[in-house]
Amino acid sequence: MINFILGLFSYDLAIDLGTANTLVYVRGKGIAIRENTAVARSKRARETLAIGSAAAKMLGKTGKSIEVVRPLRAGVISDYSAAAVLLTHFIHKVHQSGTFHPRIPRPRVVIGIPSSINEVERKAVREVALKAGARKVYLVPETVAAAAGVIKNFSLESVAAVIDVGGGTTDIALISSGREVESVSLRTAGDKMDADIIEFVKLRYSLLIGEPTAERTKIALADARPAKDVFQVIRGRDLESGLPRSVKISNFEIYNALKSSFDEIVEASVALFEGAPPELISDIMQSGVILSGGGALIKNLDVVLSQALNIKVKLAEDPLTAVVRGCAKLLSDRPLLKKVSHV
Ligand code: ADP
Ligand code: MG
Repeated sequence: MINFILGLFSYDLAIDLGTANTLVYVRGKGIAIRENTAVARSKRARETLAIGSAAAKMLGKTGKSIEVVRPLRAGVISDYSAAAVLLTHFIHKVHQSGTFHPRIPRPRVVIGIPSSINEVERKAVREVALKAGARKVYLVPETVAAAAGVIKNFSLESVAAVIDVGGGTTDIALISSGREVESVSLRTAGDKMDADIIEFVKLRYSLLIGEPTAERTKIALADARPAKDVFQVIRGRDLESGLPRSVKISNFEIYNALKSSFDEIVEASVALFEGAPPELISDIMQSGVILSGGGALIKNLDVVLSQALNIKVKLAEDPLTAVVRGCAKLLSDRPLLKKVSHV
């Protein structure tokens, strides 16, 4: 009863708890939070120092006494307490700006989760959300959420294929009757590409760069096809002298550094399609494949995938928000939500 009453003063929420970014949609208001999935804390006392984008800004700049953790790095909750701190903070934050200020918000929450996570990990996500104050938690596979976000009148009759290139994982799935019929999750995604760039710059230029620099370089120069027409100056620390140094690199060099990652995503997609029921593929050939997640913005990734699969690949509109928009749509269609979620 008390939950019910507190629930009346809480907003229903859709959350994309991504490995790189967490987005929170507030029913009736829109996307209220869009921040990095990161927490900064002191190493000794484990005191939380910053949450979200503020914590991510500290990445690579903190001394030995502070650590910046990404609680979902590999697509699963690897740091339970940091994930709980983050979710609790965001759930409270969206309630603070409302007309009512429930001291203990008890919202209904739809969360997009990676398809690869097992029963135990799903339970962990649910527990984190309940601990953060949710009174009811619906877990929806993020590829299904992305399809719901992109397809206009998404229903149980919809057939879809989704390739979601996120930070920690790339999730590829064929969807029918609101479920993943075939799916695969790769650890090859944005973070791996950043690591590829760090490694390349180290080997080729004896220069040490941090993750934020690698990510900026990727966003500026990554192209799934070889081209040499864009250059970027990057700064780092010389491996031998230890002094600051800068080098100019091209999109062609970054293409070579990332090629194996691109190939892995393409090959896994082809393998999944090859093993799929022919009728499903025939429907997907008409609807096309949805490309979502931040990695979808890599230049020409849609073109390369389309050529390899021999099916039209459509870049989702605003690919970084597809999952949270899909979760939001499901929030307002309770019967559909019940069918597609793990309650
Ligand atoms: P997750 O769902 O795992 O949190 P996102 O879908 O939010 O991941 O995508 C984050 C990843 O996308 C990061 O690795 C980020 O560097 C990458 N990314 C964001 N924008 C771009 C871009 N324009 N080009 C290439 N990669 C991008
Ligand atoms: Mg995601």
